[in-house]
Amino acid sequence: MLIDIHAHVCDTVSSINNGQPMRSAKWGLARRGNEYIPFFPPSFENSNSPVEMLIAHMDLYGIDKAVLMANPYYGYTNEYFLESIRKYPGRLKGVALVDLLKGKEAAAELEEIYRTTPLFGFKVESESTFQCGREKNMADEDLLPVWDVIDRYSQPCFLHLFTERDIDELFRLVSMFPRITFVLCHMGADACFGPGAKEGSFARLKELVRTNPRVYFDTSTVPVYFDEEYPFPSSAAIIKDAYRTVGAEKLMWSSDYPGMLNHATFPELINLVTRHTDIPEKDLALIMGGNAERLFFSDAWGQGI
Ligand SMILES: [Zn+2]
Repeated sequence: MLIDIHAHVCDTVSSINNGQPMRSAKWGLARRGNEYIPFFPPSFENSNSPVEMLIAHMDLYGIDKAVLMANPYYGYTNEYFLESIRKYPGRLKGVALVDLLKGKEAAAELEEIYRTTPLFGFKVESESTFQCGREKNMADEDLLPVWDVIDRYSQPCFLHLFTERDIDELFRLVSMFPRITFVLCHMGADACFGPGAKEGSFARLKELVRTNPRVYFDTSTVPVYFDEEYPFPSSAAIIKDAYRTVGAEKLMWSSDYPGMLNHATFPELINLVTRHTDIPEKDLALIMGGNAERLFFSDAWGQGI
């Protein structure tokens, strides 16, 4: 069983980045303000990510199921995710997205989504989530109603952390909301491996994942932080190190499709973990799909109506 817990689809890019509107252009580029930036691989002609294209990749590379990952960087994708999971029942789950900055209003919106649709969970990518509120932080008082809803519905939250402050906020959230499961995207991401990352941040997160049964890592995207070609030795070393510290039960493989196709092929993203970390077969089975099956595809999460 191979499950990708972090794949992006969208009918169009429509978001804010660097304080400017960003939208799909052509041939993989996005237009941000007056400039064109590489976004998807150039073969993505309309600079969107159709679900049919994801399914074609999954079929070709033997990926059984995927979690459609929300992110305000792409835009608000709830409707497209619903369409997608209805089109491919049993193979896809979709993560819900509301504007965290709207606080109480966002909480009501999210609760309605949990009550009436199969979407589940929540995503915060702090760089994109706080484009319109740079001074805000995840666990600010006025944003707590959103976390309260996630907690009441025992949902998972996928976090892409950028700063030391984000890590502090995560620790606050973990202690305040005992029913939320946290998945730390990209092994701790920019907060651990980005240019401003502090020494010791990865160790802090590993300790949290090791000791808290509700906190996990997703293994995607580590290669973007290092100037390396496949087989990405630094990324393999980080994943191996985490495996030894937190155990196979706490790691979930993912691709961060399709952006990562700008850096590697799908088989390389799979092989990075299965062939270059020396993790034994039985533990790979958990990392590559077993944990995700148990967490996201076999219980009440995301069943909805
Ligand atoms: Zn992503």
